[in-house]
Amino acid sequence: MANMGNKVFLFMATGLLVGCGASKNLVLVENTPVVTSLDLVNVVKDMVKVTIDPGAFRAEQVVFRIPKTVPGTYSADDYGQYIDSVRAYDYKGARLPVQQLDVNSWQVANGTSLDRMTYWVNDTYDTERAAEAPVFSPAGSNILSGENYMLNLHAFVGYFDGFKEVPYELRISKPDGLIATTSLPEVPSGEGALQDVFVASRYFDVIDNPILYAPNNKISFKVSDITVNMAVYSPTGAYAAINLKDRMEKMMSAQKAFLGDINTTEEYNILLYLSDMSSEDAQGFGALEHHTSTVVVLPESLPQERMEQAMVDVVSHEFFHIVTPLNVHSKEIQYFDFNDPKMSKHLWMYEGTTEYFANLFQIQQGLIPKEEFYERLMAKVNNAKAYDDTMSFTEMSKNILAAPYEENYPNVYEKGTLINMALDILLREKSNGERGVLWLMKELSKKYGKNTPFNDADLIPEIVAMTYPEVGVFFNNHVVGTQPIDYAKYWAKVGLAPIKEIEQTGYFLDGEVPFIDVDGENGGAIFIREGIGLNSFFLGLGAQGGDIIRKIDGRTIDLDTIRAIIGQSFGWSPKRSIAMEVERNGETLLLEGPVGSPEIEVTKIVEVEGVSGTLASLRQSWLKG
Ligand SMILES: [Zn+2]
Repeated sequence: MANMGNKVFLFMATGLLVGCGASKNLVLVENTPVVTSLDLVNVVKDMVKVTIDPGAFRAEQVVFRIPKTVPGTYSADDYGQYIDSVRAYDYKGARLPVQQLDVNSWQVANGTSLDRMTYWVNDTYDTERAAEAPVFSPAGSNILSGENYMLNLHAFVGYFDGFKEVPYELRISKPDGLIATTSLPEVPSGEGALQDVFVASRYFDVIDNPILYAPNNKISFKVSDITVNMAVYSPTGAYAAINLKDRMEKMMSAQKAFLGDINTTEEYNILLYLSDMSSEDAQGFGALEHHTSTVVVLPESLPQERMEQAMVDVVSHEFFHIVTPLNVHSKEIQYFDFNDPKMSKHLWMYEGTTEYFANLFQIQQGLIPKEEFYERLMAKVNNAKAYDDTMSFTEMSKNILAAPYEENYPNVYEKGTLINMALDILLREKSNGERGVLWLMKELSKKYGKNTPFNDADLIPEIVAMTYPEVGVFFNNHVVGTQPIDYAKYWAKVGLAPIKEIEQTGYFLDGEVPFIDVDGENGGAIFIREGIGLNSFFLGLGAQGGDIIRKIDGRTIDLDTIRAIIGQSFGWSPKRSIAMEVERNGETLLLEGPVGSPEIEVTKIVEVEGVSGTLASLRQSWLKG
């Protein structure tokens, strides 16, 4: 949290000159920071009071807004719904009329007399379980008085129309015993100060830098020239940051080695919030990326090994976002409109390339064997089957906040990865193994970088100009166009082929993956999952994905009884017979027969034996960089 350059001091000095008194109305809003105060000490009814003090306005109509959406979430969350009692005051302290325009916007009519605004902020974690469309926890907020504060600042701090590029100064009154973790530059406030003061060069930087206030549970380590800080909020104290250090350090060092000389960041902060999963705590697990930090939310109940694996999977993805969108992004992202967002067409890159790298670096850096890498690719192929394979990826991306595109969003992590895999193999083939997607991203980041966005429509033509005509055909057919990708065609270029194999499974589980699930909205009904391959047990009985299991051998099925039956099923003999009553499209069906020995047909990617040296060396350059 250092980063105390001269710029910060200069900027602060300007702020001080104009900070108070009658001279205030002479300093225009564009010439002075928006001074924003958050009072974390005097929390009232689980709400935090915020005061926003901008410079003077020349216009009579001033509109103040809280974001409807923020980068990286791809959902419209209306953070204004968590704001209460918005007030505006003139320079004498008298109240000015405020008119609410919509859920996220408030208008002050006497703009030239506007001195400051105040309002109260509710948090999102408390209400997640009850909400119809809850804010994804890593983008949400928590206020637990005196214990912890998850400050995703878009939930606390707003902006004035036309003045998003003005600097901000954040003054945060904090309770004793809690420390802040953030990538925002901090102004030194001295030992025992009751306030932390942070600065941001524009509104984008305010919301790009979440702050976690929590008891000190923090570690730092160096990854090449990057300082990584990780702060953990663990409600019962079960997890100390130090317990997660070794695995994170090893993983992030491998990520940095994979990236090589690409321009990255000096500091990276991991804000890990562990939820106790009670009804008033976070329920949405995963992470949200920011340019130099990430907020991760996971259940505290995960055992150590699962916690480490979850952190590896989640943080490796978020950290690779420093390549894109940090260093390669379009104008839609650089000048993000928080209340009327225009989306970019390139989710295949922002999320797809990121997720592809999060898998590729593990094989290239020797963290996983190649068999596991192939398995991960095959899992992406299978998961992608749940989404529309003929939907143009660029069109989906451009319209991702609306139906029918929105429900296909998770495919950016599945097919998005495979688009990059195919592109990587194509680039390797055309360049005799020398160039791949990582090379492409390095070239693009040299050309653009953090402060130079590209025109959305120019990216693909530019990539084609930098590479090969075949790359243009690929984009036209499979990313802009609607033709599904024949993955086997690309695997063949590196001497790989998909083969079908029969594998043993459990009756209700394939390893740890269940064939059944619980429908929380339908009274906890147990149903057979759709869009996955079923084993011979279910298929032999004539069961289908979507069937609701009502009874087994006369026993009514709920979460408790099915758990007991799953436990017993490990001892079933193939000759045992079963009677399963299912509900399908409102009709009840009785499915009967022997349980058999459950097995399933799976597709695996294997290395074809006896392929030419060219193919083998192309594969080597793809897997080993
Ligand atoms: Zn992502």
